[in-house]
Amino acid sequence: MVSKVIPATALLLSLALPAAGLAKPKYGYSGDIAPEKWGKLSPDYAACSIGTSQAPLNIVTAKTVKDAKSQALKPNYTPGSADVINTGTGIQVNLKGDLKIGSADYKLLQFHFHAHGEEAINGVHYPLNAHLVHANSAGNLKVIGVNLKVGAPNAYLESFWSKLPAKKDGTLKVNLPSLAGLLPSSLAYFTYIGSLTTPPCTEGVQFFILKEPVTISAKQLDTFLKLYPNNARPVQPLNGRVIKSSN
Ligand SMILES: [Zn+2]
Repeated sequence: MVSKVIPATALLLSLALPAAGLAKPKYGYSGDIAPEKWGKLSPDYAACSIGTSQAPLNIVTAKTVKDAKSQALKPNYTPGSADVINTGTGIQVNLKGDLKIGSADYKLLQFHFHAHGEEAINGVHYPLNAHLVHANSAGNLKVIGVNLKVGAPNAYLESFWSKLPAKKDGTLKVNLPSLAGLLPSSLAYFTYIGSLTTPPCTEGVQFFILKEPVTISAKQLDTFLKLYPNNARPVQPLNGRVIKSSN
């Protein structure tokens, strides 16, 4: 059980703002602040250790259940200005966008990257993934996961990737093409209810992990790995959850 209820507004702020300026205990991916220690770093992070529906997960495809009533993801992303921020634990891009899931409306808050990809599929991680974080007015969070495999250069990333801010709190202002350019042609997905994969590990977050990966060149991948060679939380126990498949 999570004993502490975080108001939706606070959660939105914590997601929408870079880490700078908010007095939160530092977390990381190795040493004394590694993922297995997160739950002890602050009472606010307790869910990281005592939560029972945490993320990321290993998706065992043979055990997923086809959901005949699955709702289509209908992104309506447009070109716009964005802030690319080095948060000290990764690269986060703050920009606006709209998403419909079925008939429900969500707003894009930000997207960010993990190396290696956080979700595993049949035990295998992609080298990089993007999490596109959306919320509705009630603060319900919906995250689209896009996996990246090494291949052709990623045209969407190319527009800002060579200028990623190298230092913590470094911010780059850019005009980006539609984020649809980062999505694969198929929006078929695996879905489950999990948590933020960083402290405070708040639960109740629905993930939509797209089945079809997109590509990133080896050089582009290396650009990210030079900044963050490891910012992936290990996969978490399933604890009886059923992972559904959209088709
Ligand atoms: Zn993430």
